[in-house]
Amino acid sequence: MDLCIRPIGEVDEDVLTFLRDKLKCVFGCCKILIPMEVPMDAFNPERNQFNSTAILLRIKPLCEIVLGVTEVDLYADRLNFVFGEAEVGGNRAIISLKRLRPEFYGDKPNDALLKLRALKEAMHEIGHVLGLLHCNDPKCVMHFSNSIIDTDIKDWRYCARCRTVLERKGIKINI
Ligand SMILES: [Zn+2]
Ligand SMILES: [Zn+2]
Repeated sequence: MDLCIRPIGEVDEDVLTFLRDKLKCVFGCCKILIPMEVPMDAFNPERNQFNSTAILLRIKPLCEIVLGVTEVDLYADRLNFVFGEAEVGGNRAIISLKRLRPEFYGDKPNDALLKLRALKEAMHEIGHVLGLLHCNDPKCVMHFSNSIIDTDIKDWRYCARCRTVLERKGIKINI
């Protein structure tokens, strides 16, 4: 699978290489592209957040699947914030590390936890790009995360049912 990571703005290199290595194991291929600038027209000064969809649409579909990774805080229509967004069955997805950092919640920084959370959000949004919808199993990575607690409860992998859906589409993954 032709999968790439597109950093949007300045992004923690350590997290990017971690994601690349893990996603490469799962999907067989993953490269990090040169960063793009954060599109400032996606910024909403009243909310002090960026419109997730506006950034998503600015990501060039340079690969079969492009995962945008950013540090800026994202929101979507009718939602206070989003961890990420994807084009279901399309090419592009985006995740934000902002609300995955333990320090956002007043906890001590924890690199291992941040990376695991980033991997879960990446797998979730890539799952959407591959055509998966939300899953009822709270342990499945395709379960919808309303809060960071939901993210921490779920595994970073797809459940057996979601894996079967991917297999039926002819998508081979290695987990
Ligand atoms: Zn989702
Ligand atoms: Zn599932």
